[in-house]
Amino acid sequence: MSKVERIEKICILGGGTAGWMTAAGLAHKLEGLGPSIRLVESDQIGTVGVGEATLPHIRYFNKSLGIDEPELMRATEATFKLGIEFCDWGKLGDKYIHPFGDYGQPVSNVGFHHYWRKMQQMGDTSRLDDYSYPIVAAELGKFKLPSEDLNSIESTFSYAFQFDATLYGKYLRRYAERKGVVRTEGKAEDVTLHPENGFVKSITLASGEIIEADLFIDCSGFRGVLIEQALKSGYEDWSHWLPCNRAVAVPCEAKGKSVPYTRATARKAGWQWRIPLQHRTGNGHVYWNEFISDDEAAHQLTSTLEGKALADVNQLYFQTGRRKKFFNKNVVAIGLAGGFLEPLESTSIHLIQAGITTLLELFPDKACDLRDAEEYNQTLGQEFDRIRDFLVLHYVATERDDSEMWRYFQAMKLPESLQYKIDAFKERGHIVKYEFGLFLPPSWIAVMLGQGIVPDQYDPLVDRADPTKMLQQITELKNLTRQAAEATPDHAVFLQQYGAASGTAALMAT
Ligand SMILES: Cc1cc2nc3c(=O)[nH]c(=O)nc-3n(C[C@H](O)[C@H](O)[C@H](O)COP(=O)(O)OP(=O)(O)OC[C@H]3O[C@@H](n4cnc5c(N)ncnc54)[C@H](O)[C@@H]3O)c2cc1C
Repeated sequence: MSKVERIEKICILGGGTAGWMTAAGLAHKLEGLGPSIRLVESDQIGTVGVGEATLPHIRYFNKSLGIDEPELMRATEATFKLGIEFCDWGKLGDKYIHPFGDYGQPVSNVGFHHYWRKMQQMGDTSRLDDYSYPIVAAELGKFKLPSEDLNSIESTFSYAFQFDATLYGKYLRRYAERKGVVRTEGKAEDVTLHPENGFVKSITLASGEIIEADLFIDCSGFRGVLIEQALKSGYEDWSHWLPCNRAVAVPCEAKGKSVPYTRATARKAGWQWRIPLQHRTGNGHVYWNEFISDDEAAHQLTSTLEGKALADVNQLYFQTGRRKKFFNKNVVAIGLAGGFLEPLESTSIHLIQAGITTLLELFPDKACDLRDAEEYNQTLGQEFDRIRDFLVLHYVATERDDSEMWRYFQAMKLPESLQYKIDAFKERGHIVKYEFGLFLPPSWIAVMLGQGIVPDQYDPLVDRADPTKMLQQITELKNLTRQAAEATPDHAVFLQQYGAASGTAALMAT
């Protein structure tokens, strides 16, 4: 049996959200086990500096590090997030919320949406949204933590944060440094490979310092300094499915009531985000430069800000897709170095987390067994592929054909996996389950129904239930949902009660 040589030195290249999340995660899990962790970042290059909306999973990451939630929320100017409001996607004038939660409850293993569909066919006009506590609460601008009583309607949801990702990075930096991570400011200018096995041996900084390590984590952002520039791992380009390739971003003064949701509004050549934080609102316009100029895209954004702009417009360029190998030799790419999917469903920070968790599960020794790398690549590859399908759904489940971009999507051939999923829902309300994947059936239902894909038929098992009784029961559920949401505190009030308000915000504005 060959001798296992444990990793002694880890080098993380990059100090954006990915770099510091990785540093904090590794420092916590490997504490006392020996490996030293060094993080190199270049102030001259800087970070992407956007990325403010998250998914509920981030809470588990923070919790696993022992982070106090209200303290973190104060430090990052965070608000609560119950979901995303999508405007003008199915058709102009439409809107719906994709919630972090369920619709009603399944009865005899049949999804609630089938019962709702039958009631609709019988003439009931309720929205499926009326049976979702997080949607009704979000619409009313209300928030509280999920109930621990699993029989309660108020337990049927989860939540995430909208925060300043740069402040999150700083918070995690303090955490990681307390746990022994050593930070070096400097630009990596050269990479040396081992002549025998092609592993990365060291990086050389502009200062001349050479940093050697057994394992390198590439968190250098779009550049992919190690994974691509040094190891040429290859990139799977998804521009034909997700062609938006640029964004402009600008924060502005917060105006109006504090709401616990992100907004994504479809535009003629892309879409615009609005993310309410405690002290300001984050805004951005993601677009396809084929059909709109940078100036026009910036004008579209700045002319629709709700308050005074607080900075110059930040211009960003990207290509959707992912690395063919995230884990190659002794390099693991996490964050933008691993790939990019536009932030329509706030998935990038989640993908960073998935990268860290998978790395820790498969933590290699110095030899970096190829089979571990393959398993890592398969797991992360699948995460990316599933999210890609879900994002594409937003562009193709639509009647919109009012601009060249929307007509492109009308004519586009879909990934087969997605086409099958759409057909099964349209024909009989069936959600084809992916074996893996971030988004669960309620998310697919939210977007498909929200954008006009209504099932032709419901599950025949629904006909077993007495329709009069069923109508009575679901009406009760609807009333209970609304009463519970109305009794929930205002989002701004809850932030204060929870000790999460930083004190800098005009949260109570109306
Ligand atoms: C328009 C847009 C909107 C987004 N919105 C969201 C969102 O709402 N939610 C979400 O989850 N995600 C969002 N994201 C993604 C999110 O911003 C990123 O996933 C996140 O910031 C991680 O970035 P990163 O750390 O990988 O890269 P970066 O922030 O680019 O950091 C790279 C780091 O590497 C360093 N570096 C690079 N080269 C070198 C070198 N040669 N030597 C030394 N250091 C080097 C840099 O200095 C920097 O520290 C968005 C992204 C974009 C582009």
